[in-house]
Amino acid sequence: MTKSIGQILKQEHFTQKDIVQLLKSSKEDEKILFTKSSEIKLKYIGKYVYFRGLIEFSNLCKKDCLYCGIRAGNQNVNRYDIANEQILKAAKFAYDNKYGSLVLQSGERSDKIFVDRISELLKEIKSLSNNELGITISLGEQSEETYQKWFDCGAHRYLLRIESSNKELYQKIHPNNKDHSFEKRMSCLKNLQKIGYQTGTGVMIGLPFQTYEDLANDLLFMKEFDIDMVGMGPFIEHSETPLYQYKDQLMNLNDRFRLTLRMIAVLRIMMKDINIASATALQAIDPLGREKALRIGANIIMPNITPTAERANYLLYQNKPCIDEGADDCTNCMEARINMADGEIGYRQWGDSLHFGKRQQK
Ligand code: SF4
Repeated sequence: MTKSIGQILKQEHFTQKDIVQLLKSSKEDEKILFTKSSEIKLKYIGKYVYFRGLIEFSNLCKKDCLYCGIRAGNQNVNRYDIANEQILKAAKFAYDNKYGSLVLQSGERSDKIFVDRISELLKEIKSLSNNELGITISLGEQSEETYQKWFDCGAHRYLLRIESSNKELYQKIHPNNKDHSFEKRMSCLKNLQKIGYQTGTGVMIGLPFQTYEDLANDLLFMKEFDIDMVGMGPFIEHSETPLYQYKDQLMNLNDRFRLTLRMIAVLRIMMKDINIASATALQAIDPLGREKALRIGANIIMPNITPTAERANYLLYQNKPCIDEGADDCTNCMEARINMADGEIGYRQWGDSLHFGKRQQK
């Protein structure tokens, strides 16, 4: 017998079947779902939204993920690697503008020069901000030793998206070789958690070959893994990638958008005290996409503070918004957007995952 949405939402735990039903909600049921997830957000997280100033400092990447616009095999990308002084200048901007935290993100490299450079940058960012800026890094798969080194240099959160927790689907969206192994991704996530990072992951929503059951399993995977933070967004196809050949099989962009909001809402109900980012990709589909996500469950936003000249070259997907705004414009625009979503910015606060704090006390 099919349960009503009211019955499902009263349960302490959701089964895969319950989640699929929530993800397929009718318009009326979606309203009930979003009301519930907003209430839970306000009760457990409050109305504060935390800034993570995003610095996408290089699009050099050794990998070839089949969905990504800056994959090594794409010859049509203008490759860039911002000088350390510029990165530090962006960090100083974040500090002077009362941001609590930064995200350092780039394509994946693990050569010694890169590893040492990141270590130095982390120490310098800590120093220029009197240890006040929190630092999240999102630099892909690395050895346990590298993760430990960066942790010791001052990074305390790490975002490594699993992209899909279904191994078969993961293999369909990555080349079939040892550099793109599902097991390696899983072991990296475990190492991050073991070292003591606030560990974040996420998935793409609306991938070719992906089913509602896959997405429900992704949410169950995040809960089972006891993840602290999540950044997930709609899959947006890029014409210079191998997955583009399946573009006619995709659900339309609006449906991907709605499905992403539902995923965020269900996850907020399942994991009440984690940090959930409102992904930039939502804004690529709906100009108010990020505000909508903040209303129904997200509490983190990542204003792009990468020097403007390079933003257009960090296109993991096409139609990415805000690639020609300066960091000042970006911050002002964010403030207005967050006020619109009835939120308040937690200036100068790290806004750490409450879930992580509780996990540490166990
Ligand atoms: S998704 Fe990340 S690791 Fe994969 S090709 Fe793109 S930048 Fe490189």
